[in-house]
Amino acid sequence: MYEKPNLSLPEKFNEFSEARRNGFLKVRELKESGHRAAGFFCTFTPLEVLYAAGFVPVSLCGMSAETIPAAEAVLPGNLCPLIKSSFGFYISDKCPYTYFADLIVGETTCDGKKKMYEIMSQGKKTYVLKLPHGTSPEDLDFWTDEIKRFISYLEKEFGVSISDGALREAAKLLNEERSAKEELANIQKAVPSPAKGYDVYKALEGADFLFSHKDKVENLRMLSESLKKKASEEASPEKQADSNKPLPETRKQGPKSRERRILITGCPIGGVLEKTVKTVEENSAVAVCFENCTGTKTFSRKTDADAPDIVRAIAERYLRIGCSVMSPNNERLENLEKLAEDFSADAIIDISLHSCITYSVESYSIGLFAKKKGLPYLHLETDYTEGDEAQMRTRIEAFLEMI
Ligand code: SF4
Ligand code: SF4
Repeated sequence: MYEKPNLSLPEKFNEFSEARRNGFLKVRELKESGHRAAGFFCTFTPLEVLYAAGFVPVSLCGMSAETIPAAEAVLPGNLCPLIKSSFGFYISDKCPYTYFADLIVGETTCDGKKKMYEIMSQGKKTYVLKLPHGTSPEDLDFWTDEIKRFISYLEKEFGVSISDGALREAAKLLNEERSAKEELANIQKAVPSPAKGYDVYKALEGADFLFSHKDKVENLRMLSESLKKKASEEASPEKQADSNKPLPETRKQGPKSRERRILITGCPIGGVLEKTVKTVEENSAVAVCFENCTGTKTFSRKTDADAPDIVRAIAERYLRIGCSVMSPNNERLENLEKLAEDFSADAIIDISLHSCITYSVESYSIGLFAKKKGLPYLHLETDYTEGDEAQMRTRIEAFLEMI
């Protein structure tokens, strides 16, 4: 049976920003109306199952350096900043979402996260999904069974029943959210792009903290509509004629008039957005596409809600995300090939977080791929500190000069 949760505010509540406070209060309202919250860290988490079980899924990925010192009191310093930041939020009680989560859902993706979940499980109810690291038919069988085990766990632990019908319904809702995100991201296919990539990224990221399906879809669609309007205005004959006029002398000597369109790939970048994407866009280039979590990895694949075996359909959708924890990871190269073409990319910037072994190693293959495609390629490795900001800026500026 559902146990009434402790809904008192965490000690540090007043230190949270307004947006996070609003999200927190929303989660509290949802919990008061009988929902449970499940914290998760990874795009491989099968959200259909959590929706069908009545949970509100909340991303707990840490994007701030603020909590890293607290994490380093327990974890080694040479872990990726995303893991340390997330763990820091967990142990310092600084994240309202972690505070309210009835369950943490982990996954066996990279070693650092696996070991972090072991420690987290000592203080919070935690389920770690065993993700196979391949996409063969045997891997799909294993992953389908693992999702079934997860369903059984939730049913037993929380006294809920998860029917096929509820899973199909959840898949439809999530597909609608994925399509709304995709529609927004696809606006950047227009040349010139109607928005800054930074703003599109922030909108996609923010949508995940709107916990009402209706609000999420409506907000994303409204934004897409206004950007589409802007794109068609930009493409109007008057504007086109205007852009064909000779440039004034000062602009000729300045940055090139045709925008340089950058395809961003790699690790989750919420914690390094300012010193990477913002710097790119301060130099007359535009991040037109994000092949990462928050970007295309989250929304480009849909779940076949009408498949004969809905659990297998869910498993199939998640197994083909194209993350570097998969070996081999052909999916990512196939995705990049298509995205580079669809978004008319002029170059690729691959961003790895420090100590992220799988993405750092994979940068070699991404570099070869870019060379084959004739696209200039830059690999950046960074963390959540401010120490390398100047170095990042110099490297990005030098790279963009070449394009
Ligand atoms: S990059 Fe890979 S491991 Fe990290 S959150 Fe995304 S899917 Fe999960
Ligand atoms: S960025 Fe890399 S090391 Fe960090 S959590 Fe994701 S996969 Fe693991």
